Amino acid sequence: MDSFPEIHVKKEHEDLRKWAREFTNREILPMADKIDRSDEYPLALQRRMGDYGLLGISMPQEYGGLGLDLTGSMIVGEEVAKVSLSASFIVGVQNGLAGNVFAKFGTPEQKSKYIPKLVKGESIGAYGLTEPGSGSDAAGLSTRAVRDGDSYVVNGSKIFITQGLVADVLVFFARTGTAEDGAAGITAFVVEKGTKGFRVGQKLEVMGARGTGTAELVFEDCRVPASNMIGHEGDGFLIALAILSESRIGAAAAAVGIAEAALEAAISYVSKRHIAEKPLAKYEVVRFTIADMATRITAARLLTYYAATVQGSGGDFIKEAAMAKYFASETAVWVCERAIQIHGGYGVSKMLPLERFLRDAKILDIVEGTSEVQRWILSRELLDGQ
Ligand SMILES: Cc1cc2nc3c(=O)[nH]c(=O)nc-3n(C[C@H](O)[C@H](O)[C@H](O)COP(=O)(O)OP(=O)(O)OC[C@H]3O[C@@H](n4cnc5c(N)ncnc54)[C@H](O)[C@@H]3O)c2cc1C
Repeated sequence: MDSFPEIHVKKEHEDLRKWAREFTNREILPMADKIDRSDEYPLALQRRMGDYGLLGISMPQEYGGLGLDLTGSMIVGEEVAKVSLSASFIVGVQNGLAGNVFAKFGTPEQKSKYIPKLVKGESIGAYGLTEPGSGSDAAGLSTRAVRDGDSYVVNGSKIFITQGLVADVLVFFARTGTAEDGAAGITAFVVEKGTKGFRVGQKLEVMGARGTGTAELVFEDCRVPASNMIGHEGDGFLIALAILSESRIGAAAAAVGIAEAALEAAISYVSKRHIAEKPLAKYEVVRFTIADMATRITAARLLTYYAATVQGSGGDFIKEAAMAKYFASETAVWVCERAIQIHGGYGVSKMLPLERFLRDAKILDIVEGTSEVQRWILSRELLDGQ
């Protein structure tokens, strides 16, 4: 049972929620803790998600995807994250990052070569923007791609790349212009596993979204055919931003999912746990905390769906995406921390998934642009150019 009223979405969106929940409860929930503890990429689950359709929720139908709008994708993402952020990262990278670059900016050949396999889960995708020396300041990236005949020779490295450890296909961004060109000197490419000069550097262990193959990727005189360019020379940064604006709404939806799971756990616990012969649910401080949790989650959810709706209507949604990502990720951290407090020692133990929820929520405050970056985007949109 949901802990607070459903926000009105289309009937087909609610059918989607049921469709996603049916799979997540049956297939993902039983292994969510194992994925977290082992930190091993769940390849068999990834394949089952492909068979079920989750890896192509937003991909075009002509390439085997379900072609859902962003609101539909957010609903599915929320449901998956409610049981496992790691699984939702797999869905997010296949659809919203790697897949979306091909769908929006790929040539017809690139689309038909890469999207169907990403959708089926036969190919694992990754999106490489962040580098050891540039994260928030993505325009400052220094991986270089130098034209040489019919190909580009790439040198540099990427860090914290989700699915990087296991990726068959990496969409990446490299500098084809000079450092002075800044964002205008960045170009997008695709490279396949096994290409000479392209390798996994190291696996990176992180506190949340574990088991998603977070890794460093290295290019050493790696020759990439010019036909692997996505868009045109110098388009890369605009491509990266366009993709991130949408996937930020996905991160917001994931945050809502985690926060809902923490709230539901707290509501269930306070009715059962007695302190001095009185259920925790009768203590006013606990009641008010639950009220605050539900209010903040509903606000985060509304912001998320609103951002997806603005995107769906074709409007500029940069502000809405930044607000949703910033507010929802911070809400998830706050709600998970409060849920742990309500559970006392059980909350911080590994007997319950709450400590995982908190570690996962914190990841969402960092990826796809930190909260500071979202506020920087918002302040720029609101204050500059007036
Ligand atoms: C689990 C995980 C998965 C990830 N997956 C991917 C992936 O698949 N692909 C990919 O390309 N990247 C990925 N990332 C990288 C992620 O997007 C970056 O870590 C993030 O953008 C922050 O960059 P940074 O780590 O370099 O921090 P920095 O940019 O160095 O930030 C350091 C601090 O400075 C603050 N800061 C930055 N700019 C400002 C500002 N203007 N004003 C005030 N404060 C500021 C930040 O908020 C932060 O607190 C992943 C990261 C993690 C942890």
